[in-house]
Amino acid sequence: MKPIRAGVLGATGAVGQRFIQLLGHNPWFTITALAASERSVGLPYGQACTWRLPGDCPASVRDLLVQPCEPGLACDIVFSALPATTAWEIEEKMAAAGYGVLSNASSHRMDSDVPLLVPEVNPDHLRLIPGQRASRGWGKGFIVTDPNCSAAGLVVALKPLYDAFGIRRLVVTTMQAISGAGYPGVSALDSLDNVIPYIGGEEEKLRREPLKMLGRFAAETNSIVPAEMAISPACNRVATRDGHLETVSVEFVHKPSLDEVLAALKGFQSLPHKLGCPSAVERVIIVRPENDRPQTYMDRDAGAGMAVTVGRVRPCEVLDYKFVVLSHNTIRGAAGGSILNAELMVAQGMISDGERPADGGRP
Ligand code: NAP
Repeated sequence: MKPIRAGVLGATGAVGQRFIQLLGHNPWFTITALAASERSVGLPYGQACTWRLPGDCPASVRDLLVQPCEPGLACDIVFSALPATTAWEIEEKMAAAGYGVLSNASSHRMDSDVPLLVPEVNPDHLRLIPGQRASRGWGKGFIVTDPNCSAAGLVVALKPLYDAFGIRRLVVTTMQAISGAGYPGVSALDSLDNVIPYIGGEEEKLRREPLKMLGRFAAETNSIVPAEMAISPACNRVATRDGHLETVSVEFVHKPSLDEVLAALKGFQSLPHKLGCPSAVERVIIVRPENDRPQTYMDRDAGAGMAVTVGRVRPCEVLDYKFVVLSHNTIRGAAGGSILNAELMVAQGMISDGERPADGGRP
């Protein structure tokens, strides 16, 4: 297959750099356009961007000139790592111009016609796309979003449990890494030797997004009927670099045995892996038996950052069972998740080499 031409919006930021790192060795996509703010436009990427990931900025993108985030980019799809305030308008303009937009920003996540997608959890929500195109008058363009970085790990762990036993309510407490705030994020003096028990807007996202992702596509209304469960989140910023750790207590509709909970988690199958998506891991949920795992430092890179590690599965004294979930926030919870969304769409014939916009022709 000829690689599909991809652009990155917000290419110089924390998530933008992850996109570039991950796309650099993805066989299905090739980076042909990079875009960011006025500050960076016109500069070679290597100069506009202070590379902050381990290793060097890939040589293949160092000399690409950074362009404005607007139609005219020479690519077929764009991965968006824009701040939510900016993403709103730019992503709609790009989709209207015929680009497929795979977004990390929260702007369009809860739009009723936009899939909030985790390929292992709700691949059928892509059925919203024909209606999205029709109602917005978009020809080839579309917007597909991935969830909040804490919601991404949580919903993967919940999916097999929700399907098997139903979930009535849950309490989740997050310990979120500093990279989740972008660069430079939280200042050293605020974060070192400290835990901050508040992240603006985060608890609202964690309360709402899993309900949409675990919801059911209703063909008759071309919409998602959200799952019904109560979620009580408490979000904390902790002084780790990458990786969001979450403790979760769950009450089920049909209370399973502990062995049944473990079997459901361990038996979870990954559709994108079956379809041959390059970023998919065979075991998307890794269940650790040790009492002291997962740990942020030890386990965040499991499955090249795409696996979700679950541990300490045990009875809860208040609800039914409790456990710990860990996922990598800028890989599973951001760039890697968006790339997997695009791969699922390629595997299902929804993105192809012919998906290019009329006004963004090849250079
Ligand atoms: P960031 O480090 O602050 O990077 C922001 C990027 O957007 C930079 O490339 C910046 O370009 C560009 N930008 C800013 N204002 C712009 C404008 N007006 N027009 C065009 N480009 C503009 O942020 P981040 O952490 O990468 O987050 C990016 C998005 O992903 C956010 O919506 C965030 O909520 C979401 N997200 C982040 C994480 C995470 O773990 N960090 C996880 C999931 C989702 P310049 O360098 O040129 O200014």
